Amino acid sequence: MRIHLLGTRGSLPTPGPDFVRYGGNTSCVAIARDGEAPSLILDAGTGLATAASILGERPFVGSILLGHLHWDHVYGLPFFRNGDKVDARVSVYLPGQDNPGGMLHRVMSPPIFPIDIQTLRGNWTVSGLEPGTVEIEGFTILALDIPHKGGRSFGYRIDDGTNTIAYLSDHNPYSLGPGPDGLGEYHDTALRLAADVDLLIHDSQYTPAEFEERHDWGHCSFGYPINLARVAGAKRTLLFHHDPSRTDEQLDVMAAELKEPGVEFAVEGSTIELGAESDG
Ligand SMILES: [Zn+2]
Ligand SMILES: [Zn+2]
Repeated sequence: MRIHLLGTRGSLPTPGPDFVRYGGNTSCVAIARDGEAPSLILDAGTGLATAASILGERPFVGSILLGHLHWDHVYGLPFFRNGDKVDARVSVYLPGQDNPGGMLHRVMSPPIFPIDIQTLRGNWTVSGLEPGTVEIEGFTILALDIPHKGGRSFGYRIDDGTNTIAYLSDHNPYSLGPGPDGLGEYHDTALRLAADVDLLIHDSQYTPAEFEERHDWGHCSFGYPINLARVAGAKRTLLFHHDPSRTDEQLDVMAAELKEPGVEFAVEGSTIELGAESDG
């Protein structure tokens, strides 16, 4: 399995010299089976607009799984040039709700945006997912509700038959209670999604000090995924969805202070190869 991090920022794109190394594009992760072009994309933040960096000029044929519909996870859709091609097929999935296509239309249609998703070339469809296991693009995907804020949100567990990853981009486990360490509950859903995965990609929006003030803002501090990985047996962890105020310099300092092996802050533009021998 090959994982391309096209956008690692949370909440708001962050251009400018202070954000070039960890990246300013919002959540978007492309996944490919070994030896193939990426066919599965997690979230459609502004990172999706850079997909040509990995797809070249070819039309995208595959699926996009949206964790939820917040702006920072959908703003890349109309700028997905590989999806805007005659031969493209883009199957968009989002957490089940009444009229999922209409819900996406609400965030991408005039007067909010000049065009509707159906204006794009290619065969675009939008479907709702219910919690459970589903086969999409040859991947076995477990989709489960996770606590966030403002709208239904899913975390995903993705298995290609050799490797398994978990993706919880926006996660507020504190809403279920403070848990044993005050960072939030290590609840069953988070444990199921992250159990023994080769790679955990997880919300790490806040520092401990920020989290004191913002524990009800829909996210968690970076200590939570580190501990979740330990409890669930995740081999490697990418701290993801960086707060828009977090500069490269600050992330470097935080990274230098990390004591856990196999834990790092996600870097936009990087590629991770997992394999049969993957030990993290
Ligand atoms: Zn977000
Ligand atoms: Zn969100």
